[in-house]
Amino acid sequence: MAHKLYINGRWVESSSGKTFKSINPANEKTIGYFQAGNKKDVDKAVNAAIKAYKKWRLVPPPKRGEILLEVASILRKRKKKLGKLVTDEMGKQIKEGLGDVQEAIDMFEYMAGEGRRLFGFTTTSELRNKFSMTIRMPLGVVGLITPWNFPFAIPAWKIAPALICGNTVVFKPSSDTPMCAVELVKILEEAGVPKGVVNLVTGSGSEVGVPIVKHPKIAAISFTGSREVGKFVAANAGLKKVGLELGGKNVIIVMDDADLDLAVDGIIWGAFGTTGQRCTATSRVIVHKRVRDELLDKLVRATKKLTIGYGMNHDIGPLINERAVEKVERYISIAKKERCKLVLGGNRIPRKGFFFEPTIFTNVKPKHTIAQEEIFGPVLAIMPVKNFDQAIEYANSVSYGLSSAIYTNDVNKAFIAIRDIEAGLTYVNSSTIGSEVHLPFGGVKDTGNGAREGGILGIEEFSEVKTVYVDYSGKLQKAQID
Ligand code: NAD
Repeated sequence: MAHKLYINGRWVESSSGKTFKSINPANEKTIGYFQAGNKKDVDKAVNAAIKAYKKWRLVPPPKRGEILLEVASILRKRKKKLGKLVTDEMGKQIKEGLGDVQEAIDMFEYMAGEGRRLFGFTTTSELRNKFSMTIRMPLGVVGLITPWNFPFAIPAWKIAPALICGNTVVFKPSSDTPMCAVELVKILEEAGVPKGVVNLVTGSGSEVGVPIVKHPKIAAISFTGSREVGKFVAANAGLKKVGLELGGKNVIIVMDDADLDLAVDGIIWGAFGTTGQRCTATSRVIVHKRVRDELLDKLVRATKKLTIGYGMNHDIGPLINERAVEKVERYISIAKKERCKLVLGGNRIPRKGFFFEPTIFTNVKPKHTIAQEEIFGPVLAIMPVKNFDQAIEYANSVSYGLSSAIYTNDVNKAFIAIRDIEAGLTYVNSSTIGSEVHLPFGGVKDTGNGAREGGILGIEEFSEVKTVYVDYSGKLQKAQID
């Protein structure tokens, strides 16, 4: 039997009468069937969310926080089972699957605490006997559209702040990981989220995503996914508040004074963790030519030790689906045509599932396609440079700007890199991945539109500020005039 949509506190079938399948990318076995939602379902979900908003916005934020804490507590109790579900439905190795669930736990806990802050500010007035302050207001109904690569964490990064601010939600997860979404929404229901406050509509981008983006009664869209779809969202959302978290072409710079063994650990984790399918995955390594050969040698040796297979007992799991394999193959053939030098890997693994060898190219220059476009697979481009200035120039030679890192023991170079690399995140002597929920997350340039998720700034995306003046003078006072 197919899993249902969750609308107005009830599990219901889609009005399309159609379903779709989610599979395990490691063995192509069916995980389950899900409702192929459509515009009618989105309309029902929005109506339920509008109705629920009237009450939910008036629930004191600390009380909303209690529900979020309960969500965190149930997630924690089920962490092992849910971590395995992530591995089975999305493919990443089990340690990362558990990490995905842990990130959701952390975010629900963090945002529960935010219920006792949601700060505005008070300030002075230019007039006597007049008080001024700002308060935070919810937006209304928010549409949340998510990708598949963090099937618990990314929905949590959106649902938790949306709820603590007093919004109600229409949630559309990726069609590659709907089972994780259903499990998360069941937990929200169990934790006491009132009916209509969170509504789940599974289905395709065109049938469910587009009606959400264009819906006149949705106040805001929070979207995480590819740059192409992000542009569509920006162009079609009208005057809604829009948060976009898009792709990356993340870089690690390795200087000639760096601890190379430390750098290799960071590069392997960044490039091949999650099979390269993180928005913050390391896809370029810019290395000082003096240490290029030594770094490459250590990197190839370490990469060869990685095991590839089902994520429950291997280091590197499968890619998400057949299309992802074809995309990686396409970029590898372009790189070969453009005469980048293949050092390791480059092939699909001929067995059931969507496995691909960790792949390393060297002699890559900024003009090459694999140095510019997001591949979203285990493909690493090594780019040798003659000095630090060229390293920074190469780092900034892409249209994306999400994550970056530098390995160096020279504090001056580290601080110049922090100042000059065009990215939303810069790590020093650590990989391009490793965000924590209480710090802002997001990118510059084509990675988004300036929105930040997580931490206190994560509240900005899901609330707006009202300015309040209270005049207790008992007479008409005129600003700028009296
Ligand atoms: P995608 O853009 O294909 O899909 C994302 C979501 O949008 C899915 O739910 C999809 O069904 C929906 N969608 C598709 N077309 C739509 C449309 N026209 N209107 C509305 N919704 C539509 O991305 P994906 O393949 O799921 O995820 C991979 C991408 O996500 C990569 O580019 C990656 O870098 C990016 N990503 C970014 C971040 C970040 O925080 N910056 C985090 C994770 C992933």
